[in-house]
Amino acid sequence: MRLRLAGSSPAKFRTLPVPGEPRKVAGAPDGKIEVRMEWLRLARAMAKKTRKSSVSARSTVRREGVPPMRIGTNVPDLLAAWFRGSARVLPWRQTRDGYRALVSELMLQQTQVSRVVEKFEPFIARFPTPAALAAASEDEVLTAWQGLGYYRRARLLHAAAKAVVARHGGEVPSAAEALRALPGVGRYTSGAVSSIVFGAREPIVDGNVTRVFQRLEARAGSASDGDVQAWAWERAEAFVAAAREPSVANEALMELGATVCTPAAPRCGECPLRATCAAHAKELTAEIPAPKKRVARKDLVLVTACVRRTDGAVLLEQRPTGGRSGGALSGLWAGLWQPPAVESADGADLAPRAAGELLGLPASVALAAVGEVPFMTTHRAVRFVVFAAKVRGAGKALAVRGRVWVKPDDLANYALSNAAKKVLARGVDRPVCP
Ligand code: SF4
Repeated sequence: MRLRLAGSSPAKFRTLPVPGEPRKVAGAPDGKIEVRMEWLRLARAMAKKTRKSSVSARSTVRREGVPPMRIGTNVPDLLAAWFRGSARVLPWRQTRDGYRALVSELMLQQTQVSRVVEKFEPFIARFPTPAALAAASEDEVLTAWQGLGYYRRARLLHAAAKAVVARHGGEVPSAAEALRALPGVGRYTSGAVSSIVFGAREPIVDGNVTRVFQRLEARAGSASDGDVQAWAWERAEAFVAAAREPSVANEALMELGATVCTPAAPRCGECPLRATCAAHAKELTAEIPAPKKRVARKDLVLVTACVRRTDGAVLLEQRPTGGRSGGALSGLWAGLWQPPAVESADGADLAPRAAGELLGLPASVALAAVGEVPFMTTHRAVRFVVFAAKVRGAGKALAVRGRVWVKPDDLANYALSNAAKKVLARGVDRPVCP
């Protein structure tokens, strides 16, 4: 086996003999071997000898007949050592228990750490145990979840707490299999909780972990590709099998992806794995992983009315929670409160009276158009066409079909989506007089 070391022109390359035989990876399927990273260091040393810069050597080392690179067994230890000195101080790391870990993991799915940091302790203070969470109403849980988005996770966490009480006497189980049987807990979350809290030798793969593995081995493709995902789980299994302390190594791996090996501009200079990273050696960090394929968002126009009374109360309705109607609005903001809204493709052209009729408001409610509010979700580009009105008296005729008047002081007890908050800000702040 030989390494090929090229110069600045492709014609000028040297081949170097590789000393020794590649090592068999412990536990790897037959035929899979590990490329020893000393070879890359050797190639760089040879580049110096032949008066090439180390940078040029890094970028031009080619592998000839070398099987795919595998993660070295020292990677978990390197990461664990780095983590001990670099881990961020995060609230769910202060006290390790299964419930806190479960809550934090569900919150961290699709929500930024900084936002979760704000919301985590208040949520735990409100629902300190699985039993407390299980005993709460869905409205209370959704209200406490406000600001974290993707409310489906809140409902799943609520259901998981009920299952923990019913099946495990109120204690979050430690085994990954039992965790995985809880609502909303998949392979990643069960692995994270059982490994990080209970020290189980369980693999974990999320977007950050996949990116780190891909770069370590210069594995092309998008992190969301099915074959890349399957490959990453294999790597995670090998990684955790080689770890002295699975809990620290797994958490360190995620931390590296979140803080150093970031999607754009990874900070390789600060990375404990740079000497073993193929993407860094080949200057491929900008290309690996490939960008995610974008899914076209569905356009959606919603006509909505911010109606308020003279005492400041606003009219709200709750979005349906159950079932999937199959329409463009299906499942969107399920169970959350909003100013009355209805889908209408030609909503932007509606006159105020026509909008009132569409929304089922009495003719006495004098709506006025107050503009539009755009809002992007993962799958939809929503345009709210906002109308507003102020009504005198108790407005009893409007509190029908599940609609309620909510006073400003009471608004905090109603779970509103961020979209509904923006709509309210647009509608309520406008001085509209009948
Ligand atoms: S060296 Fe750079 S690309 Fe490689 S794992 Fe570290 S931060 Fe990521």
